Amino acid sequence: MGFLKNLFGGGSAKPDKRYYVFNVKCNRCGEVIEGRVDLDNDLSLEFEDNRNVYFVRKGLMGSGRCFQQIEVELKFTSDRALIEHQAQGGTFVE
Ligand SMILES: [Zn+2]
Repeated sequence: MGFLKNLFGGGSAKPDKRYYVFNVKCNRCGEVIEGRVDLDNDLSLEFEDNRNVYFVRKGLMGSGRCFQQIEVELKFTSDRALIEHQAQGGTFVE
């Protein structure tokens, strides 16, 4: 199947990693909630320390009866690599 590899292995294709997926655990009830960042649409550009960074803030809520709102902030480089993340009301889990 080498020809298929050659067909799709070209370097010009856009990377498929459009979404950054993460999990946060609610500090109140312990529920793990999955969040997802649309790297094409959710990020806003900021200028920080002489470089461009991409920033997103999201509010997440679990599906249970707990009404704790978890606010997460994530920061990415212009290559969409994660620089830092923090959560209020929850904790990031792997
Ligand atoms: Zn909760």
